[in-house]
Amino acid sequence: MHLPVAGSSEQINQALRGRVLPDQSIAMTAAHAEPADAVLARLSSAPEGLSQDEAERRLAQYGPNSTPGAARTPVILRFLRHFHNALIYVLIAAAAVTWWLGHPLDTAVIIFVVLANAVIGFIQEGRAEAAMKAIQALLSPHAAVFRNGERITIDAEDLVPGDVVFIEAGDRVPADIRLIDVSNLQVQEAILTGESLPVDKSLEPVESEAPLGDRSSMAFGGTIVTAGQASGVVVETGANTQIGRISGLLSQVDKLETPLLVQINAFAKWLTLLILVFGAALLAFGVFIRKADFTETFMSVVGLSVAAIPEGLPAVLTITMAIGVRAMADKNAIIRRLPAIETLGAVSVICTDKTGTLTRNEMVAASVFAADTIFEVSGEGYAPEGTVSPAPREDDQTRATLKDLARAAALCNDAALVETNGVWSVSGDPMEGALLALSRKILGDVDIVGESPRRAVLPFDARHRFMATLNETGDGARIYAKGAPEAITTLCTDMAGPGGERLPINAEDIARQTEAIAAKGQRVLALALAEADTGETLTPDTLSGRLTFLGLVGLVDPPRAEAIQSVADCRAAGIQVKMITGDHAGTASAIAAQIGLPRPAHVLTGEDLDRMDDAALTTAALNTYVFARTSPEDKLRLVNALQSQNMIVAMTGDGVNDAPALKRADVGVAMGRTGSEAAKEAAPVILADDNFASIAAAVTEGRRVYDNIQKLVHWTLPTGGGEASVVILALLFGLTLPITPIQILWVNLITEMTLGLALALEPLERGTMEEPPRRRDAPLLDSSLLWDIAVATVLFAATVFAVFTYTLNETGALDLARTVAFNTLVVLQVAYLFFVRFRHGASTTLEGLRGTRAVWAGLAVVIAGQLTVTFWPPAQEVFATTSLPPVYAGIVLGAGVVVYVLLEIEKQMRLALRPRA
Ligand code: ATP
Repeated sequence: MHLPVAGSSEQINQALRGRVLPDQSIAMTAAHAEPADAVLARLSSAPEGLSQDEAERRLAQYGPNSTPGAARTPVILRFLRHFHNALIYVLIAAAAVTWWLGHPLDTAVIIFVVLANAVIGFIQEGRAEAAMKAIQALLSPHAAVFRNGERITIDAEDLVPGDVVFIEAGDRVPADIRLIDVSNLQVQEAILTGESLPVDKSLEPVESEAPLGDRSSMAFGGTIVTAGQASGVVVETGANTQIGRISGLLSQVDKLETPLLVQINAFAKWLTLLILVFGAALLAFGVFIRKADFTETFMSVVGLSVAAIPEGLPAVLTITMAIGVRAMADKNAIIRRLPAIETLGAVSVICTDKTGTLTRNEMVAASVFAADTIFEVSGEGYAPEGTVSPAPREDDQTRATLKDLARAAALCNDAALVETNGVWSVSGDPMEGALLALSRKILGDVDIVGESPRRAVLPFDARHRFMATLNETGDGARIYAKGAPEAITTLCTDMAGPGGERLPINAEDIARQTEAIAAKGQRVLALALAEADTGETLTPDTLSGRLTFLGLVGLVDPPRAEAIQSVADCRAAGIQVKMITGDHAGTASAIAAQIGLPRPAHVLTGEDLDRMDDAALTTAALNTYVFARTSPEDKLRLVNALQSQNMIVAMTGDGVNDAPALKRADVGVAMGRTGSEAAKEAAPVILADDNFASIAAAVTEGRRVYDNIQKLVHWTLPTGGGEASVVILALLFGLTLPITPIQILWVNLITEMTLGLALALEPLERGTMEEPPRRRDAPLLDSSLLWDIAVATVLFAATVFAVFTYTLNETGALDLARTVAFNTLVVLQVAYLFFVRFRHGASTTLEGLRGTRAVWAGLAVVIAGQLTVTFWPPAQEVFATTSLPPVYAGIVLGAGVVVYVLLEIEKQMRLALRPRA
């Protein structure tokens, strides 16, 4: 089955390597060659961006910032593809042969089966496709843009030429933009130029003829920011962007497959071949050795092939996966690459971030340590209302320090607070939002940013764990810095004392205060300042040894209630949960305890890990549950260590540097809300709500999907074997066929298409999340399947022959005996379905007998179908059936019950002997 997914970037790279696309747009032919001001002026825009009204007007004029999708395969071709299948060819040949032999009724039945098969396959494929499409739509990107002078986040689709956007490390550039302000900006443009190394960007205009890769004053839509930040004015949107012009390539169609589907497809192909060869041998045997009638033998062999070939299986499995993908999306886990759905079910350890995943990422500053005093901060959410207590007196020097700290908090900050209908929210990083609220609680409603405009910035980088800005003041400039306490302290020489005096930095005392705040589960941030010159550039080196430590801020970020439950569920399912965070060890440990992770004897930090060799790291990775102050490299090492112990690792990530660990993990999980585009690109799973509970839900769903696939295989192959065995025995021993070939065709059509689908929709079976994860290398087609096939074959053949022979002996009526055998076969399939629905426990429970809506719907169709072909005279003509007298109807149902009971007893014996976990 083929479903559309975007072409891989590798394909696109290959197609584009070195190509410069012709400029087609008249509006902004050479934005890269003009000064930024000129471009802004030409677009009637300004560094503060457009007004909302103007943006809406332009949106109407230029259309949305989206690229047209690829043309779809025509409907008729997609329908015809369902006839491209070895079994269908056999059936079409059989239809031709029966017609030639003068059996038009048989021909009609075969053609009906062929058509029904294609129609049902086509409808199901459409459904799977719709599910995948809906999921792609969930991945729509956003952009940070300045409108009416305020920074807001909008759908990238709504960008218009002239909009001023803000981009930072990890973002995907939302449109083609002319840069108007850059700080250490590096962009990876492989998607356009094939060059995988990031390129530096600057403001200077370049030659108008410069190839795409050299247009350093531009950032192009679709490329990824790997470092720094910038703002720029949108010059082209949608189809006019460089990437838009090649969108045909971007939406190339790939096959949607998973290792399991590939395995089963290959298996089904070989099985088909085996059955066809076997059928041909049987035909030869019947005709030449048994001297049986050719037409009858031929039809029997066709019936046998249809019964034994699992023609519907690959399609139903794809549907099962697609339903799983949809169900996961409903639970906020978006599957970008289908193989992940299989791996999710086998996950044995989840390595998760803390902030936003286990906690809510709704921050509020709760405490401040400055000038040797601990202050409590009141207020809720992001509303800038609340007090700092004890309130310092007007003449108190502490007050000045507190104000400096508040200024640092507001100026060394990229977020904005937005009030809508009295509710305050953040555009940008929640932690920075909380700092803005804190600053206004201390300073009141003053325009700090207006008073001290920013002249330079050193963006936050998880490697150095701080951020700094250079802001103009009335009489010069100041550097403000914020970051992890130990990172800031190493840059400081002195600290603001209680009386406003400068004291030598006391790193130990600061570390003690940090520990105390962190032990309450609060995230701790340090703030600092330095006097500076206006024109300075900021680098970690130029800051070193210059800063004055102002104080610490403790931010509360409560754990998510649902995460606590999910951690418990995972642990019950034998899945380990490990917290791998960039945060302070104390904070991490306190939150771990609140979340219900095994109380850590000690937390390992990135530094501890750096000192370990691979063997020590492996032991540590297995026995530790909390890792703090980790770097992206640590994450990668931990994944490797856990995988070396045969564990299947799910790893979350959000930062631009998390990509290697996300790729290396068995299931990389990127944060949909706060995650960088780079992380989303690398991960096969994206969490729409960044919530740990969604990972746990996806793992549960993954187990359900795998279970249902197993149930489908364990239903399809044994019942197919059971049906086929009836025909094979009759042919081999020259017995009268208890079921005619046409009846066999019918049984297959009606049961496979209804009951098989019901299994695809089975809910999570109780006990599924109480068993340990399945082994990575557990084969789907294992000895238990062979055993099930053997059991079903014996039971089906014995039962069908028994009822057939009994009826024939009692009545001497062949049609009646066949009708009984035919209906018995269907009842056996139904019994087998009820049996196979439960793999982890007994089938004969109230829950089992209650069934599901899908099971009853499937059953209703089967019953209606059987009543029609058994009792409706015109159908009786076609299928050579007769109405069943009540006694024989009783025999049919009784046979089903007996077989079901035998199957259940056999399963109970097996479960009793199962090794205990
Ligand atoms: P997790 O990995 O669980 O999401 P985290 O968000 O704390 O945790 P990082 O984003 O790597 O991890 O941050 C590490 C540390 O860097 C934080 O604990 C904080 O001290 C500091 N930090 C984070 N964001 C900023 C920022 N915008 N400016 C300054 N410092 C920051």
